[in-house]
Amino acid sequence: DSTAPVALVTGGNRGIGREVCRQLAGLDHIVLLTARSLKAAEKAAAELGTSVVPVQLDVTCEDDRQRVAREVRDRFGRLDVLVNNAAIAYDTWQCAVSADLDVVREAAETNLYGPWRLTQTLLPLLRASRRGRVVNVSSGAASLADMGAGTPAYATTKVALNALTRMLAAELRADGILVNSVCPGWVDTDMGGPGGRPVADGAAGVVWAATLPGGGPTGGFFRDGVRVEW
Ligand code: NDP
Repeated sequence: DSTAPVALVTGGNRGIGREVCRQLAGLDHIVLLTARSLKAAEKAAAELGTSVVPVQLDVTCEDDRQRVAREVRDRFGRLDVLVNNAAIAYDTWQCAVSADLDVVREAAETNLYGPWRLTQTLLPLLRASRRGRVVNVSSGAASLADMGAGTPAYATTKVALNALTRMLAAELRADGILVNSVCPGWVDTDMGGPGGRPVADGAAGVVWAATLPGGGPTGGFFRDGVRVEW
């Protein structure tokens, strides 16, 4: 179906990313389920149906980003939805006063520079869409209003991701591209650990932002479709 929206999700092989892929496929999107391991992408995609296409993408790898952009261009000529979901280093055991800054730098490669560069690389395709949506999956841990001790690598890189959301939203408003940050809440995944809410609930708020109607909000920070404080 050449009119079906085309969505690309990073870190789609497990956790919230995989559930976002499932839900977008259920909403009749063609979903490029990307993962840094092709095998993992293929396994997850096979479970989600024929409209989910496995693609290898490590967001920190320039060659991967360029190849994926070429693939999307050649196959679809546009990209309607980009979900920057992949992230690492929920470093609850660290404090800013003693943090290993190599860990912070490594986190930034995946949590900030990865999504930033990927968005830049895919921008011509998002512009070609005329209904582009970018969702940066962020975290309540990045809320400056509530910020206290802990998770220095994770929190600082997600704060910077939120800043990127604001800038991209302002710069892409004229193109009709809506860019928002979404906190999925505490979700029961490998990162979140047991006790969080089901992935379906966390993913739903991401999918909400990925499927906003034209004229919808941009440059916002949302949880479950409701604005939260930066
Ligand atoms: P998981 O740890 O369960 O999954 C993380 C995903 O990111 C995996 O698919 C992983 O791939 C992928 N990934 C990591 N590094 C890269 C990379 N360099 N390139 C491509 N993919 C990569 O996390 P969640 O599903 O819990 O989290 C998803 C998002 O939600 C993240 O942005 C996280 O910060 C956010 N979030 C989660 C919360 C929670 O409670 N779970 C709370 C608030 C925010 P691989 O399998 O190869 O490791």
